[in-house]
Amino acid sequence: MGHVSLERLTYNREIIHVGEYVLEIITYPHPTLRHKSKPIKRVDTALREVVREMFELMYEAKGVGLAANQVDLPIRLFVVNLEADPAKGEELVFINPVIRMPKGTEENEEGCLSLPGLYGNVVRPKKVRINAYNLQGEEINADVEGLFSRVVQHETDHLDGVLFIDRMTESAKVDIDGELDMFETEFKSRRETGGVPNDAVIAARLSEWEAKYC
Ligand SMILES: [Zn+2]
Repeated sequence: MGHVSLERLTYNREIIHVGEYVLEIITYPHPTLRHKSKPIKRVDTALREVVREMFELMYEAKGVGLAANQVDLPIRLFVVNLEADPAKGEELVFINPVIRMPKGTEENEEGCLSLPGLYGNVVRPKKVRINAYNLQGEEINADVEGLFSRVVQHETDHLDGVLFIDRMTESAKVDIDGELDMFETEFKSRRETGGVPNDAVIAARLSEWEAKYC
């Protein structure tokens, strides 16, 4: 399950510029949040810069995890620091994550940097095993629970185009309908004023990244 793609990962130390692309956290309902990310086949200097930048954006937003789709990139990786603070905790990078062996269930409140200010309860497996690679090409194999388990599940969902609001119960979703409408209205107006490109432009950029890394 997913292991073959992990083993095809190659590491390339040549310098490739990210170009003019500036990373920022995109918000619901940006279409890239619904894009299913493809496995990464190579890691280069530009990708390491992207990861560094993702940590910075995550800290600015006081988050504990950030997936590549959330910075409008279609690649299968996410970053985590459970302390949300560069001076504390451990910076972890998960490339091509695969979640297996779910055990138990647990309900807890979640939020998301792509839905700022919105919170809701989500039921998820209590413990999972996560298998991935880090930036050095070392395999990560960990049995996780508590906040760590919830974060890796939330972030892996992002890579599949799934948001935590999709996993809320129907009755809980009714409570956030108004807030989602506000996100949608704001996104529409940002688009109309040129703050967000149209779907075709976004799709073309995602294809370019996929051609380079996937
Ligand atoms: Zn999120």
